[in-house]
Amino acid sequence: LLAHQERWESGARTYPRHLPIALAEGSGSFVRDVDGNVFIDFLAGAGVLSLGHNHPELVRAVERQLGSLTHGLDFPTPAKDAFAEAQLSMLSPERRHHTRLHFCGPTGANAVEAAVKLCKIATGRGDLISFQGAFHGSTHATMALSGLVSQKAPVRDGMPGVHFFPYTADGRAPDDRSMSGADLLEQALRDSNGGIPPPAAVIMEMVQGEGGNNVARADFVRKVRQVTRSLGIPLIVDEVQTGCGRTGTWFAYESYGIEPDVIVASKALSGIGLPVALILYDTALDTWAPGAHIGTFRGNQLAFAAGVEAIRVIRRDDILGNVRRRGAQLADRLGRLTHVPWVREVRGRGLMWGIELADPRNGRPASSVASAVQRHALRHGLMVERGGRDDAVVRLLPPLNVTAEVMDMACSILTAAVLSCTT
Ligand code: PMP
Repeated sequence: LLAHQERWESGARTYPRHLPIALAEGSGSFVRDVDGNVFIDFLAGAGVLSLGHNHPELVRAVERQLGSLTHGLDFPTPAKDAFAEAQLSMLSPERRHHTRLHFCGPTGANAVEAAVKLCKIATGRGDLISFQGAFHGSTHATMALSGLVSQKAPVRDGMPGVHFFPYTADGRAPDDRSMSGADLLEQALRDSNGGIPPPAAVIMEMVQGEGGNNVARADFVRKVRQVTRSLGIPLIVDEVQTGCGRTGTWFAYESYGIEPDVIVASKALSGIGLPVALILYDTALDTWAPGAHIGTFRGNQLAFAAGVEAIRVIRRDDILGNVRRRGAQLADRLGRLTHVPWVREVRGRGLMWGIELADPRNGRPASSVASAVQRHALRHGLMVERGGRDDAVVRLLPPLNVTAEVMDMACSILTAAVLSCTT
């Protein structure tokens, strides 16, 4: 199957080849390849499968919906209504009453595009502000907002103007930078002689996933919110990866004590990998005209049915509590790796973790070591992801309902992989 894929897929799409396996089926936190090998899946469809593979109650909800309506385009439908109600019920009551929900194309990038257009229309401004290491998607505007300098370069014509500021991650030495990204942002925005004009929006992730699992510091996020609010600049929080419980609260911004103007969500909304994306935004921004952001696949009734069931299961089974408990277990086990010279940092929130590997002699990203760790773990039955600069961060995105036993097994495999690839 891998050889088949090599034949029909362009060499540009190298991403899946980090892991040389072809998948056959999945169940809970496990996946089986076509040769019958079973792996613990700590990739979970890049964070999409929040309740693991084929959660039986979600499967039944999809099957029930299959018999009545699968695609509803833009029409109101009972499944869409129930889904929207369920989503809004996850917001605080104060927030709910001034929030609008807009369904987008079915991908995260499409929803980020919608958020950007919404803010451009509402403010009448053009440029945007983003942060170094960000990832927001692969369309023109979302790439423009992402770090990925070498990928942007060949297609930069027609991209919106974006100013980048440093992203201040947890765990770095305080003397890494004399001013935080938020201080620099404020300075640039307030400088009328050489600074930058007010942008249409500032966009940020609370934890940069693709950027290497960088956890934003609370003071940094609060300062960004304070500066944007005082200057009348909408703040878009991209919760495509951090949302739907991944970091231990429904949305990651909640634990920072801020209120964004726009929330972007996608990946885990259906809980079972069916595509759906949306933005939740403040009614004050609601100045766009009907048709400003449309798309054929905004009415996936199967995703809606699964998403309603996912929220029911998440509440009933206290999945957010499980995220915090399993996250603490993971932090405890992997935290012991920080004495290994090649391990620069182990960092994360909830069930979104990264192990950054760097050469102890010069501090450079140790991409080949990270790759070796990933392959070693795979050979021993654990699928993990990589990301960050030079792909030197081993990333973990387990299903949110992972058990203590599976977590323990995965941590043992990973510990052995790190120790064996760094000595
Ligand atoms: N934003 C963030 C934070 C993401 O992590 C991703 C996907 N990794 C996207 C946007 C883009 O989502 P999609 O691939 O569904 O377009």
